[in-house]
Amino acid sequence: MSTFQAPKGTYDLLPPRSATFLAVREAISAPLRNSGYGYVETPGFENVELFSRGVGESTDIVSKEMYTLTTKGGDQLALRPEGTASVLRAALQGNLHKAGLLPVKLWYSGSYYRYERAQKGRYRHFSQVGAEAIGSEDPALDAELIILADQAYRTLGLRNFRVLLNSLGDKECRPVYREALQGFLRGLDLDAETVRRAEINPLRVLDDKREDVQKQLVGAPMLRDYLCDACKAYHEEVRALVTAAGVAFEDDEKLVRGLDYYTRTTFEFVHDGLGSQSAVGGGGRYDGLSEMIGGPSLPSVGWALGVDRTVLALEAEGVTLDIPAATSVFGVALGEEARRVLFGKVTELRRAGVAADFAFGGKGLKGAMKDANRSGARFAAVLGERDLAEGVVQLKDMQSGEQGPVALTDLVDVLRSRLA
Ligand code: AMP
Repeated sequence: MSTFQAPKGTYDLLPPRSATFLAVREAISAPLRNSGYGYVETPGFENVELFSRGVGESTDIVSKEMYTLTTKGGDQLALRPEGTASVLRAALQGNLHKAGLLPVKLWYSGSYYRYERAQKGRYRHFSQVGAEAIGSEDPALDAELIILADQAYRTLGLRNFRVLLNSLGDKECRPVYREALQGFLRGLDLDAETVRRAEINPLRVLDDKREDVQKQLVGAPMLRDYLCDACKAYHEEVRALVTAAGVAFEDDEKLVRGLDYYTRTTFEFVHDGLGSQSAVGGGGRYDGLSEMIGGPSLPSVGWALGVDRTVLALEAEGVTLDIPAATSVFGVALGEEARRVLFGKVTELRRAGVAADFAFGGKGLKGAMKDANRSGARFAAVLGERDLAEGVVQLKDMQSGEQGPVALTDLVDVLRSRLA
């Protein structure tokens, strides 16, 4: 293994592709920031119980994929595999949930860790932008989040994605369904692992990707037929609000998702250009999570969109984002005194808010102009010894190729107005 090889299932974000990641995070969070969501940041690790109690002991995420560690002091910690449990924990700890302040609407962006079988689109370290609306049972919140995710993807220029929508019922109707499904599953010919799953988390079996399992599932009882009246009415209202916003969705009765805390509304955004790792984002309502982690009743809803897969989806659709060049002016100086003077001008430009860079490393004119080109700067400011003696700098418009002298003392003002 080479010393320079990042760990399996991870990769580095390097320029220029890294700029796309920043732009995607920005584009996903912009609609949230514009809709009353405040920024929250939580630690990269939490006490293990938060996830085992919250996400669920029987889920793959907790039972197989969590990076756990014991500190020298004996604390059991886990690198966060997802964001919702941490954000809810932070809201409770920070007392954001006091009556009158609900719903608490928060957004976040960060790194998440799962020990998964690595492949394209599935990494051990990945990046999500997420949103949570905590402490309110209102179908308009579920609808708002679905609509904002759709808006984010559309603003980015994505088209080939679909919204899948389902209701998982609540603590009244789901247990009845669970039992009916378990009764059905017990009559099937399943492997030991799946039999075990059917006992702990039967709904997850519906989600099994294997064809032989799916064949046996034909005729299984469907949750839709077991939803209580309250859940049905709630779901219809979510569907109506999303429809009224002009966001198309597909009802997917088998959409279960891999986390235990979901109730009622669940949804997933899938992209058709990504092969097996097609989910670009997902979320839903988690009315019981607060109580599961020891808090008061706080019905909530949220989503997390994967940044890595969103970038892959853009690439699959051939969408290139319009990312402005990072540098507007590139300084090229020839000779020691010119270097000193022009370096000072570059500093002045930066302080005046103009994005400026400089030919470092004592290169000759040819090499330095190559750097100027590569930087994408609109202007190159070239200062030779003779220019210096005359008190001017040669300003070259890199788009038109036009070039002319500008008084050194006027450089900052001239550039500011020409770039405006
Ligand atoms: P989840 O928390 O599993 O619902 O995931 C939400 C979103 O995060 C998914 O739709 C993916 O876009 C992204 N995601 C989850 N796990 C991974 C992973 N291992 N690698 C890359 N992206 C992931």
